[in-house]
Amino acid sequence: MNSFGSLTHSYIIEGRDEARRRDFVNEFIMMLECEAMEDERPCRRCSSCRRVEAGTHPDVYHMQMSNATGYSSEKDIAPFIERLQMNSYGRFMVGVVDEADLLGEGSQNKLLKTLEEPGEDTIIILSAGNKDNLLPTVRSRCRIVRCEGDADSLSVQPKEIIDRFFYRYRSNLDKRIKTRNDALALLGALEEEFRDSMLEGRDVDRSIRAIELIENARKDILQGMSHTAALKRLYIMLY
Ligand SMILES: [Zn+2]
Repeated sequence: MNSFGSLTHSYIIEGRDEARRRDFVNEFIMMLECEAMEDERPCRRCSSCRRVEAGTHPDVYHMQMSNATGYSSEKDIAPFIERLQMNSYGRFMVGVVDEADLLGEGSQNKLLKTLEEPGEDTIIILSAGNKDNLLPTVRSRCRIVRCEGDADSLSVQPKEIIDRFFYRYRSNLDKRIKTRNDALALLGALEEEFRDSMLEGRDVDRSIRAIELIENARKDILQGMSHTAALKRLYIMLY
């Protein structure tokens, strides 16, 4: 059921500056876990925000590095995967690999299945100086987000990711999509998203199927089905 989640649940955050990357990842996690209303996330005041900030949030797990030179495919991968399979206390279970450049081939191969089919409420973040240090098979399973630019763009970007890949399509459908034209515009954007991933060779079969479903939803709406019903049906079929 979660096959489509793989498009959106695994991220590579790429940026040369490690401190900036860490801030970016924390901001991203805060947005995910924050308990405030959607428009106010991250509020930085709720207990989830403060725990993320302090590095003590129970749903956030950073992969431990056993070797001085990098992650151990024997010792570090299994606990990470196991932890991600646990139920979250809050909104999402988040697994972070802070120095993904230091994942060896063996480690990356062991992560593939989890990257492709994470739990429904699981987010995996690989933070890397250079995404090319990761295997193509890993890259193709992740949404790649560049983390560069000044501090201002930093605070905006994670919001955009969440907005684009979660809430816009998932919750608040009624609130955000008020008219038939809103619904058709959403379908257009969604279709473009899947066309991109198809052209990039990511999840080709699923993308083709998604495009078909989107086109059917568009037809339904144009033929008079209520746009809310059509979108809800599409959402259920996609996820
Ligand atoms: Zn908060």
